[in-house]
Amino acid sequence: METKRILTGDRPTGPLHLGHYVGSLKNRVRLQDEYDTYILIADLQALTDNFEHPERLGHNVMEVALDYLAVGLKPERAKIVVQSKVPELAELTFYFMNLVTVATLERNPTVKEEIRQRQFGRRVPVGFWAYPISQAADIAIFKADLVPVGEDQLPMIEQTREIVRRFNSLYGRVLVEPEALLGEVARLPGTDGSPKMSKSLNNCIYLSDPPEVLRKRVMGMFTDPTRIHATDPGHVEGNPVFTYHDVFNPNKAEVEELKERYRKGKVGDVEVKERLYQALERFLAPIRERRAAFAAKPNEVREILIEGTRKGRLVAQATMEEVRAAMKLNYFAT
Ligand code: ATP
Ligand code: MG
Repeated sequence: METKRILTGDRPTGPLHLGHYVGSLKNRVRLQDEYDTYILIADLQALTDNFEHPERLGHNVMEVALDYLAVGLKPERAKIVVQSKVPELAELTFYFMNLVTVATLERNPTVKEEIRQRQFGRRVPVGFWAYPISQAADIAIFKADLVPVGEDQLPMIEQTREIVRRFNSLYGRVLVEPEALLGEVARLPGTDGSPKMSKSLNNCIYLSDPPEVLRKRVMGMFTDPTRIHATDPGHVEGNPVFTYHDVFNPNKAEVEELKERYRKGKVGDVEVKERLYQALERFLAPIRERRAAFAAKPNEVREILIEGTRKGRLVAQATMEEVRAAMKLNYFAT
């Protein structure tokens, strides 16, 4: 049987955070030996709401690559591909535009929410509004079987499946219908208590945060707003400090004991946060160390990107040969 394929990625809008880790990175690392894995640094997608500052992307491409290597993605297994260096993606996006209606795009709940957050209204750039189409092309060009993502991406995977079905029924079975794979935490809340940790919301703990920044972010976290004094009984459910404890503190007995005391008003927020800081520090220290080792060798990281992109482009070119043939657009060789 052929090895199944993974495609997923991130927008290079800043370094990666804990939400990326639990939502997607952890699954990528776990599955990289089993699947033929391609990880896309989606700079074209990032451009859709950063086109006034394209110069920011280059730096962030490197930051994201460093985060990948730091969490344990192995370049010989997980090929890191830079999206803008695969022009075939733009071509497939163009063909896909015919297979999607305005009505469908307008229904996408994630894009709707992102348009609201950015206060675009009707002035939303078409590129941003239509990014699910380019994302469908990313997934389809790699013929990915599996797409490890956070919950906000489920509408994009559904959209991709629809486009693939439509393509295959119109032109012949060329493309593969992908499945989404959610992380153990499908959506990690932000430090401010909002439902999603997100680079655009400035509520993140980054994988690369140094200890003193980590401490500051943890100590500043939103907790239980109904609790004024450490002696008031507190709420554990929906409290992001405890959500993070559940996810990142491997000492389950300690977490249970803290919850117990919190509910009874027998522990202050400072102590709960201090223990969370320690747990996160144990988790992040080795990641930070590996990151620093790669950051000291920027040429090596660049080579990893060049090689990953080369391999990714070969896959994209092969798919496009099939796509053009299926669409009867291969009038002559070029
Ligand atoms: P931006 O605000 O620039 O969109 P982002 O934080 O949403 O940044 P993306 O690059 O859009 O990050 O997302 C990359 C991947 O990480 C996606 O699969 C997404 O679902 C996942 N992800 C991002 N934030 C979270 C989160 N808080 N919890 C779980 N998964 C997440
Ligand atoms: Mg996003």
